[in-house]
Amino acid sequence: MLARLPTLDSRSMGNHPNICPLCMSHPESHDHIFLNCCFTSLIWRFIKDRCQFYTSITNWEELIQYISVRWKAKSVPNLLRKVCFSAMMYHTWEERNKRIFKKKKSSQKVVLARICSTITTILMLGFLQDCSTARKILSEWNLSLSCCRPPPRPPDTTNRRLNAGA
Ligand SMILES: [Zn+2]
Repeated sequence: MLARLPTLDSRSMGNHPNICPLCMSHPESHDHIFLNCCFTSLIWRFIKDRCQFYTSITNWEELIQYISVRWKAKSVPNLLRKVCFSAMMYHTWEERNKRIFKKKKSSQKVVLARICSTITTILMLGFLQDCSTARKILSEWNLSLSCCRPPPRPPDTTNRRLNAGA
């Protein structure tokens, strides 16, 4: 993920100018497109609010390093942060490519709606287990609690008791 996406500053793109296709006013780079572009600022702010992730980092590599340390622990909030961040990256990059290769533009609100839809779809796959933290976060995000897998059932001790009594 470290600066591997081929932005216009990192390789020759034939006839494409080295201008961000989202704002059309700055040279495109990872730092710009994901962190500093006026088009993605609304989206990025939304993701930061949802993830309670408040940082003023404006450098992509620094951000990835920061996330890889801060979000390393396997916890419900970190899992949701990773889902949000991945959806944000995916749809920002998709919008960028649609503008370059298909000459189609969507608004920030439409891209944000796609991100939210993807987050919900991923959560509906059921890899989030029902627990108080998951319920609290889903409620704050106005997402259905049905996104959660039921909590694990306590071990069935009936057979053990029967065997012990035999
Ligand atoms: Zn831009």
